[in-house]
Amino acid sequence: MRELTNFGEVLTQVDLKKYNTYGLGGTAAYLVKPNDLTKLIDLIKYLKEHKISYYLLGSGSNVILPDNDFAGVIIKLDHLNKITFAADTAIVEAGVTMASFVQECLKHEIVNFSFAAGIPGTIGAALVGNVGCFGHEIYDYVVDVTILDENNEVKTLPKAAITHGYRSTEFKNRAVVILSATLKAMKGSVEAAQKQIKENNCKRQATQPLGTKNAGSVFRNPPGVSAGKLIEEANFKGFKIGDAMVSPKHANFIINTQKARSRDIIELITKIKKTIKEKNNIDLELEQIIVKW
Ligand SMILES: Cc1cc2nc3c(=O)[nH]c(=O)nc-3n(C[C@H](O)[C@H](O)[C@H](O)COP(=O)(O)OP(=O)(O)OC[C@H]3O[C@@H](n4cnc5c(N)ncnc54)[C@H](O)[C@@H]3O)c2cc1C
Repeated sequence: MRELTNFGEVLTQVDLKKYNTYGLGGTAAYLVKPNDLTKLIDLIKYLKEHKISYYLLGSGSNVILPDNDFAGVIIKLDHLNKITFAADTAIVEAGVTMASFVQECLKHEIVNFSFAAGIPGTIGAALVGNVGCFGHEIYDYVVDVTILDENNEVKTLPKAAITHGYRSTEFKNRAVVILSATLKAMKGSVEAAQKQIKENNCKRQATQPLGTKNAGSVFRNPPGVSAGKLIEEANFKGFKIGDAMVSPKHANFIINTQKARSRDIIELITKIKKTIKEKNNIDLELEQIIVKW
């Protein structure tokens, strides 16, 4: 597929384990990093026209990639990394990482994204999953989101036109590409924001298995109750299937201790769901995304 180089940087026979925080997956035939927004749109149109399968991958911090190889094209938006600050907004391209966005905001004395400093991943994926923590979520600050829709049309949707809720948006169930977003930018004390970031990091260090191979919370919290607490009370901490283990530190995290396969993680998820249904009559809902190809 020589034509792929028309759109940006192309890598072949890529070991996907390096591209997701669980360290899962086989080999992808191609990985393309489009040069800019126009090239991304052209690439998607080209792949659809030629019926070539593709998968959009951010930082791979919320996905369970399959064990088998992928014959198609992985698309990474590393070069879609522009941020434009205006009076009280920031226009952010989908490939910007949350960590770098928060840091750039602080340089402009914008403090309202500090809550998200510890969330790995890209803005594009954050807008798909409505990420949040410490009482805030990204849709608190969305003005509009620009997408390439199912009919290859670029559309800018105001927040009111986007169905979104706790850790979910309509984009989770649609084959759209998030291109960029306009976010509300609120100025405040940088010193106070940095103090808050430090405190939040300490809370994460104390409660989450940082530094291990994981993809964040496995399940959403059911209304009024913590998924981690339910799983802990069912004695799952430290429970293993293959090299997939429920974190001894936080029961809503699964860790790849060494060479876990996707199927070990999925089996563990299935077992936890079944146990909590039997014990508490609660249907735990997955926050992580099981990818199939
Ligand atoms: C240690 C740790 C802590 C975490 N803490 C939190 C937390 O506090 N709060 C929270 O909400 N999450 C948290 N997460 C989960 C994760 O970081 C977020 O869900 C994040 O938004 C995923 O971003 P990503 O770029 O890695 O997405 P990926 O995992 O690469 O992709 C996620 C989904 O988004 C899709 N996608 C990616 N880019 C686009 C695009 N441009 N257009 C359309 N679809 C796209 C992918 O196809 C995939 O379906 C944590 C994860 C880890 C590992």
